[in-house]
Formats: sequence, C-alpha cells, structure tokens
Amino acid sequence: MNDATTTIAQIKKHIQDFSDARGWYREQNAKDLVMALTVEAAELAEIFMWLHSDAADSVKGNAEEYRHLREELADVFWYLCRLCEHFDVDLAAAVAEKTVKNAEKYPAKS
Ligand SMILES: [Mg+2]
Repeated sequence: MNDATTTIAQIKKHIQDFSDARGWYREQNAKDLVMALTVEAAELAEIFMWLHSDAADSVKGNAEEYRHLREELADVFWYLCRLCEHFDVDLAAAVAEKTVKNAEKYPAKS
C-alpha cells in the first residue's frame, strides 16, 4: 500500500476490515473515536514537544524519531478515517468543499 496507488476508499476498507475482525466497530462510538483521534494527535505533537522550532525538521534525519513520526501520522489518519466512516463522510469531497471555502476566505496573492 502506498499513496500513489491507494485510494482513500481502499484505506477506509482496509481499516474497516481490520476493525471488524476485532469487533471494534460495535464497541467504539463517535465520542471514543474523537478522543482517540485527539490522543493520537497529542502523541504526534509529543515528538516535537521539547524541540526548538529550528530543530523540528531534524526528526526526519533520526531513523527512530522518523519511524515514530510515521506511526503517529498513521494513527491520526486511522482515526480520521474511522470517524469519516462512522459519520458517512466522503473525505475527498469534504476536502474539496473546504478548499472552496478557504479560497474565499484566503484569496491567493496575485
Ligand atoms: Mg499512537
């Protein structure tokens, strides 16, 4: 699986199948999913917590920190996808709609 050849729908299906096999869909509600997303976002932030702003990009040069970064990004995306499935949100469509709204709010500089 990689970004170039995998659709969001395929990732959602992958996550749903994994979760179904463990009975997680029945047990986790919207509140639990939002809390899990928030915790995973905090774990992502924790990687950078005591780094000076100028040193934040150094994470990419440290194999262990970079592995940790990738894992937390995956965790955040995982719960984002679970929430989209829970609320029947088409993420690509939501991003497209939000882009239109942002373009009106923040016009491109010419
Ligand atoms: Mg995590």
